[in-house]
Amino acid sequence: MLISELDLKDKKVLVRVDFNVPMNKNLEVTDNTRIKSSMNTIMHILRNGGTCILISHMGRPNGYEKNLSLKNIVGELEKLLNKKIIFLNDCIGDRIEKACREAKKGEVILLENLRFYPEEELGELNFARALSAIGDVYINDAFGTAHRNHASTGILPTLFKRKKAMGFLLHREVEAIEKVLKNGRSPVLSIIGGAKVSSKIQILKNLINFVDDLIIGGGMAYTFIKSQGGEIGNSLVEEVFLDEAQKILLLAKDKNVKVHLPHDVVVSEKFSNSSTTETVNIYNIPKNMEGLDIGPLTIKKFNETILSSKTILWNGPLGVFEMSNFQNGTKQIAVSIANSTKRGAFSLVGGGDSISAIKLFGMDDKFSYISTGGGAMLESIEGKVLPGIEAILN
Ligand code: AMP
Repeated sequence: MLISELDLKDKKVLVRVDFNVPMNKNLEVTDNTRIKSSMNTIMHILRNGGTCILISHMGRPNGYEKNLSLKNIVGELEKLLNKKIIFLNDCIGDRIEKACREAKKGEVILLENLRFYPEEELGELNFARALSAIGDVYINDAFGTAHRNHASTGILPTLFKRKKAMGFLLHREVEAIEKVLKNGRSPVLSIIGGAKVSSKIQILKNLINFVDDLIIGGGMAYTFIKSQGGEIGNSLVEEVFLDEAQKILLLAKDKNVKVHLPHDVVVSEKFSNSSTTETVNIYNIPKNMEGLDIGPLTIKKFNETILSSKTILWNGPLGVFEMSNFQNGTKQIAVSIANSTKRGAFSLVGGGDSISAIKLFGMDDKFSYISTGGGAMLESIEGKVLPGIEAILN
């Protein structure tokens, strides 16, 4: 159920948001994307005569920690909402229940960091019960924590029977992933990069069931190349995953999925931006060299596949984008996906590092959808049902 299907008039609406935003040493919010992303949900509650009670976690505290108090984000939230909010320095108990009960419609209350109570992460029913006493209706708008079976995400919604729904952000995230995995327009392409095969095995295995083309790049590509007898020099490799890599290639063949591996790569003697570089065939990397980016032929070939795709999922950089000498591959792939999007393809970008890369290139408005949840996005494309979403749907 979506928030717009619920009657919110005169209701105390408990909203699980993900305000776990990065802060600097002066406790100022350095990236407000996650707060901004829940604005639609908050505004909808206010417009429809509800009182908005926001609950969230911040960081990984060990009991109360001043630096991780949600009080630190009050200023940012007020600025974005253009209105005063009420901050309460706890999240459960008689005092909090009373203050929430007495709040008027149109008011916004922010409760203190849920994780100051260890019961939150332990998923304790009694803690969820105490939270449930605060609201009439439950909304989950925290995609970033939907993969955690914590009290406020996996247990609390089970106490609300039918009076629960997805917020607009959570719904958009679920819809974007379904647009790729369930009803993606063909040809569907997935581009998976990043450092390690080990962290992407489940993703690759699951994606093979949905995609027509699979581009594998970044550090993980070398394990695939080595599994086929290539000489990869000093490039990143996970020896224990050589067999697994071969299995994935066979599985893809079985399912008629075209796997695209890099052809040429930019190599360097050292993992350093100041070391000299050259471009070589990925199957023939000199012994003292390591591959740190994809080369021009690979970019050209990947570009052709990207431009002929109608649905594109991208996770993980194609090279060491943090160093200017090795960021061209990731940048050109981002440009290709953006061009394909302009021509009408649906593009979903997710996972921490791909998002850092497109932000670095100033391209974060060039794709159909950018996921706000790192781990939650990865688990979704691994094919897992996320506890926070399951608890809303059942
Ligand atoms: P992941 O968290 O697995 O998505 O990996 C992201 C990291 O992979 C980034 O920090 C990249 O610098 C790194 N990476 C990408 N390509 C390579 C490569 N060829 N060699 C080493 N690291 C790489």
